[in-house]
Amino acid sequence: MNIPFNKPSLLGNELQYAKEAVGNLKISGDGVFTAKCHEFMEEKFGIKKVLLTTSCTHALEMGFLLFNLSAGDEVIVPSYTFVSTANAFYLRGVKPVFVDIRPDTLNLDEKQIISKITKKTKAICPVHYAGVGCEMDTIMKIAHQYGLFVIEDAAQGVNAKYKDKYLGAIGHLGAYSFHETKNYSCGEGGAILINDEQLIERAEIIREKGTNRSKFFRGEVDKYTWVDIGSSYLPSDLLAAYLYAQFECREKIQEIRRNIFEYYSENLAEHAERGQLRLPYIPSDRSPNYHMFYIILPSASERDRIMYELKKAGILAIFHYLPLHTSPMGKKMGYQAGDLPITEDLAARILRLPFYNTLTRGEQDYIIAHLKKLLGHGTREKSLVLE
Ligand SMILES: *Cc1c(COP(=O)(O)O)cnc(C)c1O
Repeated sequence: MNIPFNKPSLLGNELQYAKEAVGNLKISGDGVFTAKCHEFMEEKFGIKKVLLTTSCTHALEMGFLLFNLSAGDEVIVPSYTFVSTANAFYLRGVKPVFVDIRPDTLNLDEKQIISKITKKTKAICPVHYAGVGCEMDTIMKIAHQYGLFVIEDAAQGVNAKYKDKYLGAIGHLGAYSFHETKNYSCGEGGAILINDEQLIERAEIIREKGTNRSKFFRGEVDKYTWVDIGSSYLPSDLLAAYLYAQFECREKIQEIRRNIFEYYSENLAEHAERGQLRLPYIPSDRSPNYHMFYIILPSASERDRIMYELKKAGILAIFHYLPLHTSPMGKKMGYQAGDLPITEDLAARILRLPFYNTLTRGEQDYIIAHLKKLLGHGTREKSLVLE
């Protein structure tokens, strides 16, 4: 057996639509399929305005431009996240102010936000880890109270909900990723989600190299010209075609991933009861999208041992993230080990199991059997409590 960590899958009309896009003789951005993707997300996820981008990283960079941030400003972000959450802002001199995570959901700890706010703070960027929403009511309330912008890093949160709202539909802005490793994919891609109406017109301009070309295409102006700063953030319609086919399989993808997630959960529950591992925690008012399945082991050495043994059996289980505050860049900013204890502790004990749409029951049984063998039957002395 050789089970990768992730595998892209064709589930519907991906190739047919890509062929159609080529046949349309317009494979640059904002073609027929891009419009279909926009409409789909606006309608299904209740977002005022969606624009496809070349990546989630670029959607976050657009957030920097739309919020009119400048060098020296500060953005509050978790350290336990992908590098882009911080880099999209740091790139232009904005300081990421790292906050620790909650031990239960591994999302940024909303209770620690206020203590990090200074006169320079301009925005909060919550990351919905594993597609389980952050405490958005509290975060939006703080943002309102202190006059801060919120951009949701919902890279992993497409089609997941916090209470009755879809992730990405809550903050002033949001960002999705359609990278190969995400639930809905076109290889490389993303979207900026605009919930604050006042930001819509400028978002179109920034995405189109600082021009009013979108208005021109709609016939609202006779010529298009340079009106603001901007860059090239449009993906090809060929990618949008592929992505739209995946969107059409929304229910199928959700169902497949729910089954994989629940099968892991059910089979590992007895080990969780014995304190040999901890399973993902999903608060009752969150609807997840089953983006990933992780376990948390009692110690870093136990995590490393199990990861190594699984690899020997042909199973690629991996971990992430190396906390940003202890990375070489984080250290350059003055952070050091010990600053964010929960982030550091959990990052060293988490293990992500193979998870993709075409993972078979047979492969899952193989992974579970190996894991059970490695965990043994003993009870750990130190139980994995949430506090
Ligand atoms: C994947 C991911 C990103 C980056 O997405 P790209 O589309 O590859 O730029 C950003 N943040 C988080 C939390 C992610 O998981």
